[in-house]
Amino acid sequence: MKKNDTYYDSRHVDEAGRIVIPKPMRDRIGIVSDKTPLEIYSESDKIVIKVHTPGCVICGNIENTVELKGKRVCFECIEKLNKIREINS
Ligand SMILES: [Zn+2]
Repeated sequence: MKKNDTYYDSRHVDEAGRIVIPKPMRDRIGIVSDKTPLEIYSESDKIVIKVHTPGCVICGNIENTVELKGKRVCFECIEKLNKIREINS
């Protein structure tokens, strides 16, 4: 069920601790197949599941990256983006 910008659903884990992630949620975060790598971690009383993106989301570089709003970006792309911004301002 969609409520504003957030999907809510109620599920139970099975005896092995597994849960089916609703398809609208999978589609939304880019889980396109059973091969999509995921990160899972707990944050106080929540469990967060996100698509694992080991490198820069723009160029794929895996070195010299920082996380920005949950996405990895490399410093080289940040510099390129800054140049684009300077040109367009
Ligand atoms: Zn990059």
